[in-house]
Amino acid sequence: MIEHLLKSVIRDVPDFPEPGIVFKDITPILQDPALCGAIVDSFVNRLTTGAIDVVAGIESRGFLFGLMLAQRLGKPFVPIRKQGKLPCRTIKQEYALEYGRATIEIHEDAFSPGARVLIHDDLLATGGTVVAASELIEQLGGQVAGYAFVIGLDFLKGHERLARYSSSVVTLAN
Ligand code: IMP
Repeated sequence: MIEHLLKSVIRDVPDFPEPGIVFKDITPILQDPALCGAIVDSFVNRLTTGAIDVVAGIESRGFLFGLMLAQRLGKPFVPIRKQGKLPCRTIKQEYALEYGRATIEIHEDAFSPGARVLIHDDLLATGGTVVAASELIEQLGGQVAGYAFVIGLDFLKGHERLARYSSSVVTLAN
C-alpha cells in the first residue's frame, strides 16, 4: 500500500546530477502531509530492532523523516553531516563515492557509549554512505540497532553491506 503510493509520487529524474544517472526525487512526498505521516508510521510498524535510544539521520534528506521518526519514538535525533558543518568536536569517516571520496562527521558527544542507534537516510544505493555512518556510530561506542530507508535500490545490493552491523533493515519502496 505505502509502496504503491510512494512509487506513484517519487519522480525519476534522468541525467541528474550527472549524465546517465536516474535520480529518485522524493520532494513530491513532502507535499503530502498524510503520506509523510504514513512513512513514519510504516517505519515504526516495521522496525524489528528492539529498543532504540537514538535516531541518527544523514545529511541532508535523512534529516526530513529522521527527525519526524525520532519525535514519534520519543527519542533524541542526531545529525550526521558532511565535513565542516558541525560546530563542535567531531569524529570523521571517509568513504568512496562512484567518482571520488566524501567525508561525514558526527559530534563526539552525540550519544552515550552503549546507545542503540537507528540510522535513517532517504535512500539506500550502494550502501557506502550508511556503512560510513555505521562506522561513526561504532567508533563512539554505540551499537547500530537497525536502518530505516524510504527507498532501497535492491539491485545495488547495499543491504548486503549492512549485515555486519545489524540485520534489521526497513525499506518502504525500491
Ligand atoms: P549510497 O552511499 O551509494 O548508498 O548512496 C546513498 C546516498 O546518496 C544517500 O545519502 C542518498 O541521499 C544519496 N542518493 C543516491 N542516489 C540518490 C537518488 O537517486 N535520490 C536521492 N538520493 C540519492
